[in-house]
Amino acid sequence: MSDTTDHTSFDLAIVGGGMVGNALGCAAADAGFEVCVIEARAPLTEWPAEEVDLRVSALSRASQRVLENLGVWQRMQALRVSPYTDMHVWDAWGDGHIHFNAAEIGQPNLGHIVENRVTQLALWEHLGRFPNVTRLCPARIVDLQTGPAPLLILEDGSRLHASLIIGADGRDSRVRQLAAIATRGWEYDQHAIVGTITVQRHHQFTAWQRFMPSGPLAFLPIDDGRCSIVWSTRPDLAEGMMAMQDADFCAALSEASDGVLGEVTGVGPRGLFPLRLGHAETYIRQGVALVGDAAHAIHPLAGQGVNLGFLDAASLVEVLIEARDAGRNIASEATLRRYERARKGANLGMLAAMDLFKRFFSNDILPLKLARSLGLSLADHSGPLKHLIIMRAMGLAGERPTLAR
Ligand SMILES: Cc1cc2nc3c(=O)[nH]c(=O)nc-3n(C[C@H](O)[C@H](O)[C@H](O)COP(=O)(O)OP(=O)(O)OC[C@H]3O[C@@H](n4cnc5c(N)ncnc54)[C@H](O)[C@@H]3O)c2cc1C
Repeated sequence: MSDTTDHTSFDLAIVGGGMVGNALGCAAADAGFEVCVIEARAPLTEWPAEEVDLRVSALSRASQRVLENLGVWQRMQALRVSPYTDMHVWDAWGDGHIHFNAAEIGQPNLGHIVENRVTQLALWEHLGRFPNVTRLCPARIVDLQTGPAPLLILEDGSRLHASLIIGADGRDSRVRQLAAIATRGWEYDQHAIVGTITVQRHHQFTAWQRFMPSGPLAFLPIDDGRCSIVWSTRPDLAEGMMAMQDADFCAALSEASDGVLGEVTGVGPRGLFPLRLGHAETYIRQGVALVGDAAHAIHPLAGQGVNLGFLDAASLVEVLIEARDAGRNIASEATLRRYERARKGANLGMLAAMDLFKRFFSNDILPLKLARSLGLSLADHSGPLKHLIIMRAMGLAGERPTLAR
C-alpha cells in the first residue's frame, strides 16, 4: 500500500515502520513536519485475535506515556495489552531471589506485556490519519546519499528527497550501512527461543525469570492466562530444542522453569533469535540520524530494547521541534549532536549494564555464584535501592523527554 507515488521532498524520511519508526513518525507529524515512512513489510490485513504474536515486549511506564501522548494507547488496549503487577527473578543455583511488586512503589502495575504487532498496528493506523504523512509500504530502500541534500533511492528506482533521513530499520540497518556508520559489539553465545505456552497454574499477572548458567528463561503473563516465553540459551541447546516435538519441548520447559507454574501443558509455534550486542559508533551523519535497534541492539534479559528506542524517538523529535522553532536547520550537525548527546550515553549505560548482568549470571564459577546469590537477597531487602531499581526499569527515574512524561 502506498499513500502516494509522487515522492517529492519531505522534512523527514523515516526508513522502517517498526515500533520505533512509527512512533517517531506520529510524534513528528503531530508537530507539523512533513513525514514519509518507508516500510518493507506489508501491513497486517486481518487481525488474528486468538493467536498471540511470537514477538512480545515488556513496555515500561515511560513507553506507555509516549504511546498515550501519541494517542494510540487506547487502541492498543482494545487490541490486547497485559499488565503485570509483580516480577520474580531467581537464580537456578542457591537461594538468591528478588521480588518486585508494583504496590511497593504506589503503582498499579510494573508495566505491560504487549505483542509487537499490537504496537506496530496502532501506530501505523494512526500515521494514516495525518495529512502530512506519506506511507510507502511495502517499499524498501536500496541506496542513500548523505550530505546537505540527503536522498533515498527505493527498490523500484524512485528517488526521495528529505531534509533528514532517519534509520529506524532495525538491528541490521541498511541506512546505517549505507551511511558508513560502524558498530561495536559481538555475538552473544546465546539464542532466544520465543513462543506462547499454556501452564498448569495461573501466572498471577507476574513475570517470572529464572537465571541458569546457559541463560535466562522468562515467563511473561498474557491476560488470557497464557505466557509468552523468552528462553535464552546456548545456540546448540536452542537448536536442539527447536527441533523437539511439542511434548518434549513442554517437558524441557517445565524442568527449566523449576515447575514455577506447574507443568507446561501446551506450546504454539516457536521462533529463534540469535542474540547480539551492537552499538553504532555514532548516531548521526550529515543528513542522517539513527534510532532504535538501528542504533543499539541489546540482550533481551531485562526487556529494554524498544523502551530505549521510544526514548530515542521522543528525544529526536523534541530536538527537531526546538531547532525548527528557533529558526535553525533541523538537519544541522549542532541539532543532531544534541540528540546524540541526549541518548547515546544513556543507551550505552543500559547496554553495558545488561551485558554485565548477562555475564554475571551465565557462569558456573563458585565465587560468582555465591556473590549473585547474596546480591539478589541483599537487593531484595534493600528498601530504597530496590525501589530505585524498579523505578529505573519502569523508565521513571532520570531525565525523560517531554513525550515520555
Ligand atoms: C527475543 C526478544 C525479546 C525482546 N523482548 C523485549 C522486551 O521485553 N522489551 C523491550 O523493550 N524490547 C524487547 N526486545 C527488543 C525489541 O524487540 C526491539 O528493540 C524492537 O523491535 C526494535 O524496534 P525497531 O522499530 O527499532 O526495529 P525493528 O522492530 O527491527 O523494526 C525495523 C523495521 O524496519 C523495516 N525495514 C528493515 N529494512 C528496511 C529497508 N531496507 N527498507 C524499508 N524498511 C526496512 C523492517 O521491516 C521493520 O519493520 C526483544 C528482542 C528479542 C529478540
